Amino acid sequence: MKRILISGGAGFIGSHLSERLLNEGNEVICVDNFFTGSKENIRHLLGNKNFELVRHDITKEYFAEVDEIYNLACPASPVHYQYNAIKTIKTNVLGTLNMLGLAKRCKAKILQASTSEVYGNPLQHPQKEEYWGNVNPIGIRSCYDEGKRCAETLMMDYHRQNNVDTRIIRIFNTYGPNMAENDGRVVSNFIVQALKNEDITIYGDGSQTRSFCYVTDLVEGMVRIMNNPQRLSGPVNLGNPDEHTIKEFAEIIIDLTNSNSKIIYMPLPKDDPVKRKPDISLAQKELSWTPNVDIRDGLMSTINYFEQKLKIK
Ligand code: NAD
Ligand code: UDP
Repeated sequence: MKRILISGGAGFIGSHLSERLLNEGNEVICVDNFFTGSKENIRHLLGNKNFELVRHDITKEYFAEVDEIYNLACPASPVHYQYNAIKTIKTNVLGTLNMLGLAKRCKAKILQASTSEVYGNPLQHPQKEEYWGNVNPIGIRSCYDEGKRCAETLMMDYHRQNNVDTRIIRIFNTYGPNMAENDGRVVSNFIVQALKNEDITIYGDGSQTRSFCYVTDLVEGMVRIMNNPQRLSGPVNLGNPDEHTIKEFAEIIIDLTNSNSKIIYMPLPKDDPVKRKPDISLAQKELSWTPNVDIRDGLMSTINYFEQKLKIK
């Protein structure tokens, strides 16, 4: 049995990871400040004697004895991470420093949840780990993009300088149950709009692309990279290369929900990446990992989740 700390464990991805690691017989300490996470996401785990919930903000030091750390704390949706940009940078920089300090003291392995946003508006397609990206350092997305890039730098420096066992994953758009209904991301927005028969809001002309990964596929990749006996300290892309335009994506959701919603077009937010698709050959080779949930199946479980949530309200 390992004792595993998950920062951001009450969030969308963190709640799935907490459940998976508990099911494998580990002890899980979920550290969260509940900015975008919720107790609802982890309520079913609260009775588990191996689960501990701690309300704490990782921009402040945290002390515990742990074997592994998954550092997920950080708002992920553009609406939420821009709400308090300075706090987002603090979480990424001070928070990651605190988690690395803890890893160093405990000799724990640490995995950083980085993002495809480190590639910015990419000039290479699909994106490989070697690509350094095309990021605006002074724009409205920079608090997140540059914050995550600095967190990767910290991870590599703690690895080189202090021999901390670090792992970095670059997560591409991931979706599934437990996403917040109001978080402004495209998957939750379109599904909730479609279920309420409200207008579906496409930003720009809908020709921009994203590649969507179902959350259980992602969690499998996260656990594999943490458990890999080889020290894979450099970044590894995790995502589903199945690429769609946002317009196609809206049409899939209308179809799956049998919705009467109409598509409307709204201004494209600044610095919105034009295309995004992971090259996952490194994860395939080193972890034998490949996502296998089909987008329509993954979306149906997500739609069922939101349907239940909207009924309860
Ligand atoms: P989320 O917003 O649902 O979860 C983030 C969690 O972190 C929340 O529970 C929030 O309350 C907590 N948190 C935020 N700031 C904190 C702080 N200072 N101290 C303690 N807790 C804090 O987002 P998610 O989609 O589950 O994303 C999890 C991680 O994965 C994030 O680091 C995000 O950047 C990364 N990521 C996610 C995606 C995606 O598509 N979901 C893509 C790329 C990267
Ligand atoms: N988007 C959209 N309508 C919405 C929400 C998002 O057209 O209601 C677009 C957004 O402009 C972006 C894509 O969908 O091009 C993915 O947005 P999201 O916020 O989910 O994540 P991102 O990949 O931009 O971080």
